[in-house]
Amino acid sequence: MTQDATQEFLDSLPELKPGERFAFACHPGVGCFNACCGDLNLVLTPYDVLRLRRGLGGLPSRVFVENLGEVSQRRDTGLPEMRLRMNKDEKHACPFVRPEGCSVYADRPGACRTYPLGRATRPGPEGETLEQFFVVCEPHCRGFEQERQWTAGEWLQDQGLSPYNLSNDRYMQLVSAWRAAGRGLDSRRMSMVFLALYQPDDFQRFLRDMKIFERLEVEAERMARIFADEEAALDFGLDWLGLTLLGLSGNLRPRG
Ligand code: SF4
Ligand code: SF4
Repeated sequence: MTQDATQEFLDSLPELKPGERFAFACHPGVGCFNACCGDLNLVLTPYDVLRLRRGLGGLPSRVFVENLGEVSQRRDTGLPEMRLRMNKDEKHACPFVRPEGCSVYADRPGACRTYPLGRATRPGPEGETLEQFFVVCEPHCRGFEQERQWTAGEWLQDQGLSPYNLSNDRYMQLVSAWRAAGRGLDSRRMSMVFLALYQPDDFQRFLRDMKIFERLEVEAERMARIFADEEAALDFGLDWLGLTLLGLSGNLRPRG
């Protein structure tokens, strides 16, 4: 779905107001267990890919893309986008679903964690991120018949969504800025965007080989983290793309 289509879909659902609760639980005891883990159009954000690779024992990004990714271009911006490749079986099952549940549960994508909520964001007056939540009630989902009740905040915390939303919101800000700029992407820039967003392991090597930090003001402590930790490399990649593609120097400045 494009962002506009997603917003339209969310607007058609009942909003979960702050403090309001919904009943839901998903566990092997529900009759529909695993029913939703197949035939999915599961878009993976850069942070989703990073976490899935971690959950797969540090799978190199190239191997992930080759075996588990489906790469396309976003229709709204031309930016690269990745989906999880479903199995080629009759059910088009998710490659990670097992009879006992999700085999990458600790590192499952943000969309799998957020369900049954939908989350919409917009910038607030101080530049902060304002959130709205919606309950996405799929007719086949028996989870809504369970007794456990949640507010949106409790659900987000229980599902470990904080690092996902932090990184994904930054990624969406870059997409929005790129859309507003209305620019095209040549193949060289496309490769650069893909590398910084979806291949933080190769991006770390690129930063070292191309001596990128000789041209930027980056504190030594941050530089060390970027080389040691893929999450820091992705965080830097978002700043770097903002600067090199759009001239946004929020967290990053060229050396004077
Ligand atoms: S359909 Fe609902 S209750 Fe059933 S496995 Fe999926 S999320 Fe859980
Ligand atoms: S990643 Fe896990 S939770 Fe998400 S669809 Fe696949 S098996 Fe289900």
